[in-house]
Amino acid sequence: MTAEEIRELRQRRYNATVISLQRINPDLMILRVKPDFPRPPHQPGQYCTLGLGYWEPRVAGCQAETLAPGEETKVVRRAYSISCSILDATGELLRIEETDWLEFYIVLVRENPDGRVPALTPRLFALQEGDRLQMGERITGHYTLEPVRPTDTVIFLSTGTGEAPHNYMTWELLRRRHPGRIVSVCCVRYLRDLGYSAIHHELMKRYSNYTYLALATREPGITQKVYIQDLITSGALEERLGHPLDPANTHVFLCGNPKMIGVPTRDKQTGTTTYPSPTGVIEILEARGFQADVAAWKRKGNIHFEEYW
Ligand SMILES: Cc1cc2nc3c(=O)[nH]c(=O)nc-3n(C[C@H](O)[C@H](O)[C@H](O)COP(=O)(O)OP(=O)(O)OC[C@H]3O[C@@H](n4cnc5c(N)ncnc54)[C@H](O)[C@@H]3O)c2cc1C
Repeated sequence: MTAEEIRELRQRRYNATVISLQRINPDLMILRVKPDFPRPPHQPGQYCTLGLGYWEPRVAGCQAETLAPGEETKVVRRAYSISCSILDATGELLRIEETDWLEFYIVLVRENPDGRVPALTPRLFALQEGDRLQMGERITGHYTLEPVRPTDTVIFLSTGTGEAPHNYMTWELLRRRHPGRIVSVCCVRYLRDLGYSAIHHELMKRYSNYTYLALATREPGITQKVYIQDLITSGALEERLGHPLDPANTHVFLCGNPKMIGVPTRDKQTGTTTYPSPTGVIEILEARGFQADVAAWKRKGNIHFEEYW
């Protein structure tokens, strides 16, 4: 494709600008994007799409990609939760209403041996501040604080960039002066994969009802891998909480890797529920009286989840 053709496609297909790009490590970034249109109304926890043309460059070290004929002029779009840095540069709660951008927390997927070749993240990671991209004009999603009452305990459990919507929901709870306990746990491979760690530690100093816990399964020196499921079964989560997990006044939010979440299926004929293997958080919590939201069963419970793939 010629430089002129690329310029014309970018002009026609893009509607937003990267206004800040913070690289946490080579494979992880916090991106702020300002749309050309007024920021759509939305609730913390929701998502929109980001997109880039297949004509854009990809970072080195990713799985090779073969484009189908005609694909090079198309735009690849994926869903991204809106994230939030919670505090501003002075350490006060961000005044999001005074901003005109949206924040995203994105990991580079270098390869996918079992399925489609990752198309968007190798291109997102080639972006620089000032570059243009496509942002969906609709912010949507069911994963919000809507069911949470003021006195409820709120537990956010995530893997990797799955903490993005939790950060925005945490900001909302703190802004509302939520009196209930808020616990946020994020499980990653290495401590360097925790892009918001310093902010969470600052929040713990400022808000006595807020607890953050990081689990790093492959960090050198870790003698025992602790996953989110283990944190619950061992009683360590309740220890942090200071009281038993009570389904009557607790909402649990799960976001990220589908294996951590473990969404059950139900046999239409027999009505039997089957949980996936390895055991996910939903199975563990349902055995303790919690119930997951399942749209297909028209059931709204106190476990809410967002699977990233
Ligand atoms: C509602 C929703 C919100 C999302 N929000 C975020 C977000 O805030 N941040 C974010 O990084 N991703 C998020 N994702 C995932 C995102 O949409 C893309 O799938 C991801 O960025 C990879 O894009 P890709 O085109 O490079 O590869 P894809 O073709 O989309 O994915 C290829 C494979 O990569 C793996 N994969 C996808 N996402 C991840 C991930 N986050 N971590 C590890 N492996 C992954 C899966 O095995 C997947 O099959 C979200 C997904 C959904 C459905």
